[in-house]
This record gives sequence, C-alpha cells and structure tokens, in this order.
Amino acid sequence: MKKSMVSLRRLQQRAAAELAQTYNSTTNTTNESMDLETTDPHFLNIDDVYSAENVCYEEQSDSSDTDFFQDKDDFIFDFKESLKLWSLEHNIPINALSSLLLLLKQTEKHTDLPVDGRTLLATPKSLNRNVIKCGSGEMIYFGIQKSLTKVCKELSFSSLVSLQFNVDGLPLFKSASSQLWPILCSVLGVKHRPFTVSLYYGDKKPEDINCYLRPFVDEINLLQTTGIQVDNRTLNVKVHSFVCDSPARALILGVKSHSGYNSCTKCLVEGDYVSRRVVFTSCTNSLRTDFSFRNKTDDDHHLKDTILTEIQDLDMIRGFPLDFMHLVCLGVVKKMIKLWTDGPPGPFKLPSTKLIELSEKLVLLKMYVPLEFARKPRSIADCDRWKATEFRQFLLYTGPVTLSSILDKVYYDHFLSLAVSISILSAPSLTSRLKTYAGQLLKYFVAQFEVLYGTQFCSHNIHCLIHLADEVTDNLTINEISAFKYESELGRLKRTVRSPRNPLIQLANRIIESENVSTVRKQYPVFSKLQFCSTHHSSSKHYQKCVSEQFIIDTSRFSDSFVKISEKYVKILCVEVDPENSEKFSLFGREIVHLEPFFFNPCSSDNIGYLKFKPNYHAPKNYTFESVSAKCFVLKKDDMFVIVPLRHL
Ligand SMILES: [Zn+2]
Ligand SMILES: [Zn+2]
Repeated sequence: MKKSMVSLRRLQQRAAAELAQTYNSTTNTTNESMDLETTDPHFLNIDDVYSAENVCYEEQSDSSDTDFFQDKDDFIFDFKESLKLWSLEHNIPINALSSLLLLLKQTEKHTDLPVDGRTLLATPKSLNRNVIKCGSGEMIYFGIQKSLTKVCKELSFSSLVSLQFNVDGLPLFKSASSQLWPILCSVLGVKHRPFTVSLYYGDKKPEDINCYLRPFVDEINLLQTTGIQVDNRTLNVKVHSFVCDSPARALILGVKSHSGYNSCTKCLVEGDYVSRRVVFTSCTNSLRTDFSFRNKTDDDHHLKDTILTEIQDLDMIRGFPLDFMHLVCLGVVKKMIKLWTDGPPGPFKLPSTKLIELSEKLVLLKMYVPLEFARKPRSIADCDRWKATEFRQFLLYTGPVTLSSILDKVYYDHFLSLAVSISILSAPSLTSRLKTYAGQLLKYFVAQFEVLYGTQFCSHNIHCLIHLADEVTDNLTINEISAFKYESELGRLKRTVRSPRNPLIQLANRIIESENVSTVRKQYPVFSKLQFCSTHHSSSKHYQKCVSEQFIIDTSRFSDSFVKISEKYVKILCVEVDPENSEKFSLFGREIVHLEPFFFNPCSSDNIGYLKFKPNYHAPKNYTFESVSAKCFVLKKDDMFVIVPLRHL
C-alpha cells in the first residue's frame, strides 16, 4: 500500500511538471505544487493536481496569455450565466447571492456585475397582478410557449413535438393544510427537466377544476393550431398524455375516485363491497373508449364535466395512461411488502426472523448498487419511508435475488411474475417481442393475488395492473409514461420555498428566474481518473471512469464495471482514449465465460436477461462504446452473482 502511494505521488509530480512545461511555467509554480503534495499525505487524486495547476495558470493568463479566451466579453457573459445557474441550482438565498456579488465586484474582473442578486437573476418586480383568483385558492399561469421554445432550441428538436403533462398536488408545509397544484410539462423522447406551466396554491385541492385548467386548455389549442416557432422553423405540437396518480387523474377527468365502484378509467368493472372496502375482482370487462367517455355512456363513472374534452384530438382514455410509479411502485409493491410485514394473519405473513433475514440480505447488497441509483437498499422495517425509486429497485433487482429463501415458493413465483412483466414493459427491446406475454402475466398475477392474499386486498391498484401492458407502445415503455421525472421536479420546487410568507409568489419568482437562464448542455462522454496500464495499447490514454449521457462506467468499482454488449456480458477493465482524438475511444474488458438462468418460473429468466454466473472471464479485448446495449447491476447471491441489465434509465 505504502509503495503504491509513493509511486503515485511521483507520477503526480511528473504530471504536474509536464503540465507546467506545457504552459511555459516558471520553476516557481512547479515547486509550489510539490510542496502541496509533501505537506498533505492524503493528497492522492491526480485530477486535483491538474485542477490546482489550472487555477494557477488562469490567474497568470491575465497578463501573458490574453488570447486564452478568444473574446473577453464572451467569457464574462458566460461567467454571469454560470453564476445565475449556480445560484438557482443550489437554491442560494438572494441576500447571500448579493453579498457574493459585492465580493466579486471588488476583483478587477467582475466590475460589471450588479450588486443586487435580484438584478442578476432578473427577478420579477411584482407578480401580484399575475395572480388569478380560482375558487378558494389562487394561481399563476406561466404558459407553455416560452419554456417549450427554449427546450426545442437547446435540443434542436426537429420533428413533431409530443407533449406530456403532469398534474399533482403536494403539501407545502408539514403543519398546515395548504397545498400546491402545479401543472408540469415535458417533451416526449428527449431528456430534459420538466417545466412548470401553472401553479395553484390553496388550502385544499382546486375545487373549481375548470377554472384551474382554463388558461392551459386555451393555450394548448392555440399551440396545436399554430405550432411553435423555433429558429425560423414551425414545429407541430401535439398533446400526448397526462401522467397523474389516480386521485389527480380522477380530479381532472371529473370522474369517481379510486374508492368508487365505477372508478376504473380503462374499463367498465364494478367494484364490490368486501370487509368494509371496495374491491375489484372481475377481469373481463368491456373497455371504455373516447366515444363512451365523451357521451358519458356510463353515468355512474362521471361526476363533473371536464374542459379537457375541448383539447383537439385528445383521446380521453388513451391520453390518460396509468402511471407505473404510483400504480406499481408505491401501490402494488408497497402493498405486498406491507402484507408480508404488517398484514393480518395469513400464509403470506412473514415471521419476524424472516423479516430480519430479509433486511440483512438487502443491506448486504448495498456495496453492489451502481452509481445510477440515488439510494441504497435499506431495512424492510423502514418501508413506510421508502421512496418510489426504492420500491422499483426492490421489484426489479434486489427483490428477485433476496426473496427466494424468504417467501414460500408459491409467493416467490407470484412476486416474480410481477417482476418479469414489469421488466418486459420497461425495456424497449423486450416490449416489442414480449408485450402480449407481459399482459397475460399481469392478468395471471392479478387473478393469483386474490387466491394468495384474499379478495379483500384486491384494490383499485391491483385491478389496474390488467390494463398496464396496453399503455405501452413500440417506442414508449412504462418508464416514459411514469411520474418519476415529475416527482423529482415537484420535490425541487418545494425546496425552493424559503419561508411560509406568500409561497406562491416565491415559487413564481424562482420559476421565472430559471426561465431567464440560458442553460448549457453538458458534453458527453466525460473521461476522468487516468489509469496507468502497461499491459496493452500503450499509445492510448487509459481511464478508470467514463460518464456518458445514459450511464457511468467506473472500473475502480465492481458495481460499476459490468455492461451488456449484444448478447455478451463484459466486465470493463479500462476505457481507452486516442490521445489525439477523444472521440475515438473504446472499452477494454473481459467477457463472462458462462451464464445460466437464475430462475425458471414464470419463464426461464434468460429470456429477460436475469442470469447468474461464477466470476470466470475470457481473455480481455476491445469493444466499441456504441456496441454497449446496457449497463448491468451485479448482485451477490450465495456463491454466485446475478446480473441484470438496468431497466429504468
Ligand atoms: Zn379496469
Ligand atoms: Zn488500460
């Protein structure tokens, strides 16, 4: 260990010296960086050497290398925009920003900055006249056009623009009943942060739903008629769907909520009253259609008229898909775990020894979780506090691996039938082949649920699973019609409220400020952490870490080294980059020798990519980056490993 530290330090010194030479440095600076290393024994990261050096040179470049920045004005403009973005991203209070501006103005470089944070961010002077009274609450309508134009410009979107909306309510403060009802929008098929179209704030949910939706419906119809102007081109705009949880969906559709007898928005099923709750057991019902909705042929379903019917070409059934996040993750998966842990006595209820064993198994998997996951597995006892992403992680990855020795076989196989069907509906390559099978499997899961857990637990959510496969089309998986991206934006919005005073105006200010910032899109891939490989292709640079738009490879971490390349599974050893052209790079790795199915019920798991293996690998070779079809999650299972391609990216 000590030896490798010394040699690395020498390498750092050499790198620093080389860098210094490249920039025609004085010997002075080189000594400085050496001092830095000798005084701090923990100074091991080679990236830091480079960045410390760069800071030195930026300061010097003022006098000697004036052409380092082609246009000085451009640079200052960028600095200003970056500062704006930084302050919004980190939710910096205005007074803190103002005091930073004052400090910066003391330096010669930034004399043109304003002294007031509000000037920098172009905070609106007064929004009071933009506030619209709506029932007992109030709202501000920001509109779609401005933010949409910005998104289309940044992403150079060329074809038809398909819009998806999310309507949801969230409590703003723990103590009070006040709630916020934003309408969020995103463009389907591209990755971007959803933007806010409208904000409602009141003591309860908007009771006059048509007042809440009016400006929105009017603008949608205008946009669908005229299209949107982006850089002298007109793009056609179309509403694709509204993604909501079932209470919000019922609210904007003006139909019965999920506890009602005729509440399924997809079919004509009627609920039964069993053990003081409404349950749904019938599986064969005629489906609702756009025609039947508009003509209210089932008058037990409708409560109010909704002005969403005024939106041209909107299918009132297909345009309101079931949401994977609320329905499956927070609905069905959470319900099953609750039945195992806190349910009434029954064959599904787990003894406390099994619960402890399950929690231990989950926690042990922590070190195998790839960087793409924000959360690591935690004890099943915490499941009341689990986030939707944790239930998804449990269903698709950690559950199938840990539950085999915990649940009785019939319950384990039943859980797997949900995991398999959701895996299929999450992956475009599987959906196209196996969508019908996934639909049948979900129907089987629902029918078996009644047998295994009892009629009284066949809730609205369990019933709705039979419709989930129909929501998926060839180019849209359940990930695109789920509320995950909106949920994180709602969380972000909520965090920007700094005091209980006039939250609607505070939020509106933050939203308008971020509209005014020109965001710079990151360039991918990013390589970092130089690695010193002597064994192969010495002309290339070798990196440990490569961040692409979809996933991260980090060969220093077991959990972030595995990828799927066509039908092979490969452990990456390093990322090789051509020193002349960073666009020419490849992956150097070793293929796993032998893989076998990890379960056989409801189907052999190799069909959907769950496989187990012993860590034996072929000789290493190079693979193109483009040939990678997915990053993989590798979990320890007894004396073997289970490998699963990531489904949710
Ligand atoms: Zn139904
Ligand atoms: Zn290498």
